[in-house]
Amino acid sequence: MVSDPIVGIWHPPASSRAVAASLHVGEEGIVQARDVDGKPLSATPGLKIEVSDRIGGIVRRLTFLDGSVFETPDNDGVDKALKALKRRPGVVHELERFRPRLALFVIAVVALSFAIYRYAVPLLVEAAILLTPPVVPKLLSQSVMISLDQTLLEPTKLSQQDQAAIAAEFGRLAEIAPRGAAGYVLNFRGGGAVGPNAFALPDGTLVLTDELVALAGSDREAVLGVLAHEIGHVEREHALRRIYRAAGVAGLIMMIGGDIGSGAQDVLVQGAALMSLSYSRDQERDADRYAVQLMHAAGRDPLAIARFFDLLATKLGDSGYADSFLSTHPPTPERIEDTRRYAEEVAAGK
Ligand SMILES: [Zn+2]
Repeated sequence: MVSDPIVGIWHPPASSRAVAASLHVGEEGIVQARDVDGKPLSATPGLKIEVSDRIGGIVRRLTFLDGSVFETPDNDGVDKALKALKRRPGVVHELERFRPRLALFVIAVVALSFAIYRYAVPLLVEAAILLTPPVVPKLLSQSVMISLDQTLLEPTKLSQQDQAAIAAEFGRLAEIAPRGAAGYVLNFRGGGAVGPNAFALPDGTLVLTDELVALAGSDREAVLGVLAHEIGHVEREHALRRIYRAAGVAGLIMMIGGDIGSGAQDVLVQGAALMSLSYSRDQERDADRYAVQLMHAAGRDPLAIARFFDLLATKLGDSGYADSFLSTHPPTPERIEDTRRYAEEVAAGK
């Protein structure tokens, strides 16, 4: 005897008749059901006997080769007997018992979700940008511009002369950007509640406020540095990226897989609201560096943008500037320092 007898009920083949019985496992690996008098009812080699999986406290069924069935609630006893026969207990029970495996599964799911967010979303965003017809950013920008003119912005008070001078210098800067001068329209406006500001819409429409020009004073290079930064946002499609990222995986798949036109329509409907999404820190750094390179390539002062940030910090403190118009992102001392260092490297030709 390799394990203790297990108490249960035995059903003859193809019969629901119940006989009080016990289960015995012999040294030779034969599993035997016996009645209360010890008389053998059925026997089968242990490795041939069919054992139901262990599921919680559910009664265990062992089916003999002759079709008779032994049932017992003594799960531990059955597992012990199976172990003696070197048969593994049911797989389902194995999972249930082995919680660490479940934990591993959960970790795998979390890791997969993270990977989707980390790698799939950026890919989907790139695909959506490639598939976006130019009319989408154009319509989006037009509708945003109209609503801004109706609400926040005022007509410019800059002299024709100043406007012409800035526009000409901006044109020479835009000329060497990939979209070229034709890809940009510079608008002069009174900032009103927006104050000293410059921002770009996704189609290359730029707005420069009188207040920003006044703040820069005689430092025209600083104004151009800010405009170069805005060119950076446009060239790198930062606004569309923000909008598409906000659309999420489901929204992106719908837009890419379905009719981009109707997806674009949704973007337009929510466009104005979505435009209030601020640029990410990385996008700002990207645009800062872009501005430094563009200014340098145009033969202008690559340090101008850092200088303008300094000016903002001293004159406005934390309150004023934001180039995504509804949220304020004043340049931090780190960002100013980072830009200055990069500008010095570029200027030195490193
Ligand atoms: Zn910016």
